Amino acid sequence: MSQTPTTTSAGVHWDLAPLFPDDDAARAAVPALSESAGAFRERYRGRVATLEAPELAVALDELAVLDNSLSRLASYAGLRLTVNINGEAERDLNAAVEMALVEVQNLLRFFELEWIGAEEEHVQRILASELVAQNRHYLASARRFAPHTRSEAEEEMLGERDPAAAGAWHTLFDQVTSTLRVPFEGQDRTIDEVMARVRGPVRETRLAAYEALFTALEPHTGVLAHVYDSLVADRLVLDRVRGYSHPREPRDLDNEIPSAAVDVLLAAVERHHRLAHRWFRHKARLLGLDKLALGDQYAPLGSTRPVSYADATAIVSGALDDFSPRIGAVAHQLYRDNRIDAEPRQGKRGGAFCASIAQDALPYIMLNFTDQMDDVRTLAHEIGHAMQFQLAGERQTALSHHPPLALAEVPSTFAEMIVTDRLLAAADDTQVRLGLLASSVETAFATVFRQTHMVRYEQGAYGLRAEGKALLPERLGEIWLATNRPYYGDAVELPEGYRFGWAYIPHFIHTRFYTYAYVFAHLASLALSAKYREDGDAFVGPYLDFLSIGGAASPQEQLAGIGLDITRDDCWDAGFAEIERLIEMAEAIEPSA
Ligand SMILES: [Zn+2]
Repeated sequence: MSQTPTTTSAGVHWDLAPLFPDDDAARAAVPALSESAGAFRERYRGRVATLEAPELAVALDELAVLDNSLSRLASYAGLRLTVNINGEAERDLNAAVEMALVEVQNLLRFFELEWIGAEEEHVQRILASELVAQNRHYLASARRFAPHTRSEAEEEMLGERDPAAAGAWHTLFDQVTSTLRVPFEGQDRTIDEVMARVRGPVRETRLAAYEALFTALEPHTGVLAHVYDSLVADRLVLDRVRGYSHPREPRDLDNEIPSAAVDVLLAAVERHHRLAHRWFRHKARLLGLDKLALGDQYAPLGSTRPVSYADATAIVSGALDDFSPRIGAVAHQLYRDNRIDAEPRQGKRGGAFCASIAQDALPYIMLNFTDQMDDVRTLAHEIGHAMQFQLAGERQTALSHHPPLALAEVPSTFAEMIVTDRLLAAADDTQVRLGLLASSVETAFATVFRQTHMVRYEQGAYGLRAEGKALLPERLGEIWLATNRPYYGDAVELPEGYRFGWAYIPHFIHTRFYTYAYVFAHLASLALSAKYREDGDAFVGPYLDFLSIGGAASPQEQLAGIGLDITRDDCWDAGFAEIERLIEMAEAIEPSA
């Protein structure tokens, strides 16, 4: 293994003692947890569907206590492993906690199932009671799959066939894509290693990376298409069995977003392809090219400068303090309590995340801080998550504090934008400004446009399969090109091999229509940014209220409360105007000599 370079984040490690003093204490919590879960089951099993509000409220409180203990334990074990993935003690602890987790979850599963099966009239009476007000959304939304849930015996049979009918295909896909080696620059590389090269400064390398990837994929496209074809065929059958009216409906229901509102979102994205063309043409000019090739879309622009960890923390909390001292306090508290692990080191996992821990605990942040400008934005991003976790934790119960997927990336992206504005204002070097703007525009593109094309590709594939046509590689290639072409327009030259661009994307295999939740969140945070620019300080109070809802309302209700009506065609226009503003600012910068 290579030596990790020293960074200014050296020694910045988190202190997990507030969660558990040590591993032994965490292990010791397991038997008590299983016992409490068993006792809960004894008390309520077979009665949930008929409990009256006072007793149900007590049961929900008990469930919340169990949920918090469970989350705290799983988070502690997970965080321990994150910074020492090969550690024996850490792996043993995780194995023990995982077993306990499965056991406890199995013991508690009856509660939701019985509630889902309760009579509608009884449910409405319960939901009207103030005694369950704090968990009303949890109770109501748990029932949204009820019309698509079959009898207990049927569900059991469907569950039993899952490993062979779905799991085996997932495994085959993962095996093919993870063992696939791409010959590149004299070495056999993984797909990820080659894709990292398309962000490099040398054009020949970037273009060659795509060529190498597509050439290596081609011989496997038959198998990869067959995997997808089998899964799509099976999902279409299950959709019929469960009474879904279209293949995206289970995901829409999961995300708690009305299907019509998802359609509005996707159509809005497609109405704004001109922004992409405009940026691609400008980027070609900056790179001195007549026209961009696919391999130029992530070519670096402008320049960057190193930022120390101390400066980064000051920049982020400073920008957040200016937004709202209440929000800034979340950052200061994170620094002060040592709830951030920033130093990259051997045995530590890559990437970054914010762990919510539990409703009655404060969040933790994991980073791999390497003194780059991008690391500052990552810090802002994760603190954005922490703001929501902390505020929702204070206001909501353990059963309703966790934000839904479609909103989870709103506070993180929004915090990133506030801090980027700060960095832009402070950058006296125009090339550093260009670097920041280009990165903001291209992140928005990769999230908003590209994730939308993936949804359209999936819709195309399910549509074709529903007509009885097998999903052969050539057909998937045609759908892929047809859904991507409008985005690149005539502003980007696509290589011949791009028709295999669908082949290695895991979401299509593992979680269908997964990607639009990210489009939703990114556009929502752009729209909120625009609103903040317009309303100034008047925006702050409603925004903090929004953060503190957590999972206690649907995305539609939450955004309506802060002025975004997701059913309206023009709802997302403000988000695109914000992207256009960034493009204009970048266009105003003279190319460097
Ligand atoms: Zn995030």
